[in-house]
Amino acid sequence: MIAVSGMTEFAGYAVGAHNSRGRTRPEPPPKERSEFQRDRDRIVHSTAFRRLEYKTQVFVNHEGDLFRTRLTHSLEVAQIARSIARALALNEDLVETIALAHDLGHTPFGHAGQDALNACMLRHAPDSGGFEHNLQSLRTVDLLEERYAAFDGLNLCFETREGILKHCRPDRARELGELGRRFLEDRRPSLEAQICDLADEIAYNHHDVDDGLRSGLLALEQLDAIAAFARHRDQVLGEHAGLGGRRLIHETLRRMIGALVGDLIAATRSNIDRAAPRTLADVHAAPRLVAFSGEMRAEQRILKSFLNDNLYRHFQVLRMTNKARRIVTDLFDAFMEEVELLPPQYQRRAVQDGAPRAVADYIAGMTDRYAMREHRRLFAVGEI
Ligand code: MG
Repeated sequence: MIAVSGMTEFAGYAVGAHNSRGRTRPEPPPKERSEFQRDRDRIVHSTAFRRLEYKTQVFVNHEGDLFRTRLTHSLEVAQIARSIARALALNEDLVETIALAHDLGHTPFGHAGQDALNACMLRHAPDSGGFEHNLQSLRTVDLLEERYAAFDGLNLCFETREGILKHCRPDRARELGELGRRFLEDRRPSLEAQICDLADEIAYNHHDVDDGLRSGLLALEQLDAIAAFARHRDQVLGEHAGLGGRRLIHETLRRMIGALVGDLIAATRSNIDRAAPRTLADVHAAPRLVAFSGEMRAEQRILKSFLNDNLYRHFQVLRMTNKARRIVTDLFDAFMEEVELLPPQYQRRAVQDGAPRAVADYIAGMTDRYAMREHRRLFAVGEI
């Protein structure tokens, strides 16, 4: 265990000030915060972070006030990830930072928006490698945020950027220098990054069930097919006979999340015991250590495929997906036809990085409603 700032005891293989690879542009260390707290604060103050409030994953923002947005999703991921990190004596600040930043590169309209943007990129610039939200999150914090006098982007620590880049194809990894190397050399990121990855999965699987039920696209009886849901629901009803409605749903989901978090901590502890890493370098060289037990992994897979079949492919969701695709494609084509339609900062970016990438940056930064408004501005007859 290593004592950091006299308060927290970290495991020797946790990320900390002693083994961090620092920032791309060196800066004097913060006085009263850790480097990773500073990263978190920069993310919270960024424009891309504020936009998360109006970006969605499954439901479009204007469909209801109670559905998750990418902002509330990121907060839920941070909550889950911090609990796990604390239990495992890992760097809670880093985990929170990665969790809050992990979705910054997402397009409007969730995956439909990303798929459309990727298709547009490949059509207009076949050698561009397309559009990928993970790389876009990194691009956002490395380049697109224009807030600091001395540098573009947020100049975050290597370990934060490593956590943001969850996956990467080899051809793109080669362009990323040091940060891309682990994908080419088959090494793992920090345990903190590994935690965020699975906390993300725990959060969205469960809040999508919750939002699916709230929206009426899923019916409670359908969830009988999910053994984990049925088991926890029956347990709740055993303790609170007659409970129904939102309370039953929430009580069931919170127990499911609790069970998963507990399982993940226990399975990870035993993986760590077995691999016995002593340093961060040992973590990079070891197989993935943060994991669910085999049983829980199987249950998660069932839940995921249930959501795929019943929620993500629900006809009402598909209608929105279809519309989203058209909005993104129309916008992309219009800007490519006449780059002068872009706001000036993106015209400048077009000179630097080529028009397709600049258009993708502009569209990826849009919120759901901004994209719809922009579409109306460009296409609706009678609208100026
Ligand atoms: Mg996410």
